[in-house]
Amino acid sequence: MNTKIIFITGGVSSSLGKGIVGASLAKLLQARGYRVTIQKLDPYLNVDPGTLNPYEHGECFVTNDGTETDLDLGHYERFLSIDTTKHNNITTGKIYQTVIERERKGDFLGKTVQVIPHITDEIKNCVLHIANKEEFDFLIVEIGGTVGDIESLPYIEAIRQLKWDIGATNCLIVHLTYIPYLAAAGELKTKPTQHSVQQLQEYGLQADVLVCRTEHKLDKELKHKIAQFCNVTDRAVIEAIDAPTIYEVPLLMLQEELDVIVLDKLQMNKLNRPDMEDWKAFVDKVKNPTEKIRIAIVGKYVELQDAYKSIAEAFIHAGTVYTTKVKIDWIHSEDITPQHLDDLLHNIKGLVVAPGFGERGIEGKILAIQYAREHKIPFLGICLGMQCAVVEFARNVLGYQDAHSTEMNKTTSAPVIHLQEKQKKVTHKGGTMRLGAYSCTLKIPSLAYKVYGQEIINERHRHRYEFNNEYRETYEKNGMLFTGINVENNLVEMIELQNHPFFIGVQFHPEYKSRVSDPHPLFVSFVGAALKYKKERKALKKQLKNMHSPIPEIPKSKELNNVE
Ligand code: GLN
Repeated sequence: MNTKIIFITGGVSSSLGKGIVGASLAKLLQARGYRVTIQKLDPYLNVDPGTLNPYEHGECFVTNDGTETDLDLGHYERFLSIDTTKHNNITTGKIYQTVIERERKGDFLGKTVQVIPHITDEIKNCVLHIANKEEFDFLIVEIGGTVGDIESLPYIEAIRQLKWDIGATNCLIVHLTYIPYLAAAGELKTKPTQHSVQQLQEYGLQADVLVCRTEHKLDKELKHKIAQFCNVTDRAVIEAIDAPTIYEVPLLMLQEELDVIVLDKLQMNKLNRPDMEDWKAFVDKVKNPTEKIRIAIVGKYVELQDAYKSIAEAFIHAGTVYTTKVKIDWIHSEDITPQHLDDLLHNIKGLVVAPGFGERGIEGKILAIQYAREHKIPFLGICLGMQCAVVEFARNVLGYQDAHSTEMNKTTSAPVIHLQEKQKKVTHKGGTMRLGAYSCTLKIPSLAYKVYGQEIINERHRHRYEFNNEYRETYEKNGMLFTGINVENNLVEMIELQNHPFFIGVQFHPEYKSRVSDPHPLFVSFVGAALKYKKERKALKKQLKNMHSPIPEIPKSKELNNVE
């Protein structure tokens, strides 16, 4: 096996950003010319996060092969421009499922099945499955949770064994920790880090590199102190100071030479200096926009913005195309009522209705869409957002007053969105939606085709309901066009409006495919339409102001005498 494995563990606190540090290190190694991939090991018992409420776990990311995964895989794909698969996200649920299935098959006949060695062996198998393929020079493995958690113990033990199996020069542990600042004492404190490193040592693991999250700079003496008490070299103490954008983290890690210490320890050639010029240009545009635009995202999990992570990131990417900051107004769908509609939306330059499940907040989404349609505000409906646009059109244009999706109203007289045929027999909830990449054929000419510039596109899905084809003709006669179709199954994938500058609904999730190096065309075009709308509105306001400005009064004759 020639793949070097880098494990990333976390200490002191959760939410320190192991995913971003892992993706940043991967980016630097990739920018030196190495082939890199990342894997996330999640110590919970759900088989995947697909059945979790976004409040619990943030967004559920979906890969091309239709796996519902942790949102960190989104960061990996966005940073590295790679496509991940089901092998890149492993959970304790998956591990136990495999081991128990094998036990039932009789694979361990005669033996007692135990956490050690059976569960730890299966964890090692999952890591080695990628490493043994020889497709990559580096595999970065992020362990979810914090060292010391009971549920992550089998992972820590599996790492210990792997390090022993493959040797210390083939495997490395980067420990992400936190250096709190005590304002009352005016000091940065290293003790929590010492303790978390000691805890790793108790399990038989020595951290090789410490990445220290901090709000204040770490001076040389402090780094030395951390190194001495944690048994690493001074160079292996890396400062990770809070950054204004996650996209700056690779650049900070480059300054701190995280990649250099990793390559040295793994006895790998440094090849070229990382080529980060394009990345720097991107970060520069994120940090120094020349324009601002306000758009609204309507959803029901807006209190937790991690719930819509990929959408928010896709807008950062798209904004850089115009060196524009896309400022997002997160609007709770339950706050949208006929009385508050205008207050909430009159100033926005674009409206996105987010994906989601269930009835809560649905009427607010429909009202917002009606507002965008009637006021000709650029609109993008994603998955449930598209379905709501279909319902809105049925009610307010076609006159089907109780039109709905059968997800929300089983007995509606106009089921314009209904359960896919294939879904009718499905009884289990986990991993049973229409998931992953499917192709979609675009109509020519159409706005959709203009946006993508190609006839066949491929996008990722996560839904059970679909547009009811019985209504197609009625919609098209009245100005809603179906410009993206999955031909194999005759499913509507994209809708647009004829008499509107930019009104698009998509049954898929374009946000999963936007990358730093390749902002998604739908988000780019939507931001472009929003900027155009802003300009037109400004011009119109000016025109109106001029029309209504009072006619200059005729100066009185006495004053006239004073005029030269
Ligand atoms: N609840 C809808 C469906 O299952 C939409 C899903 C989504 O927005 N991801 O079809």
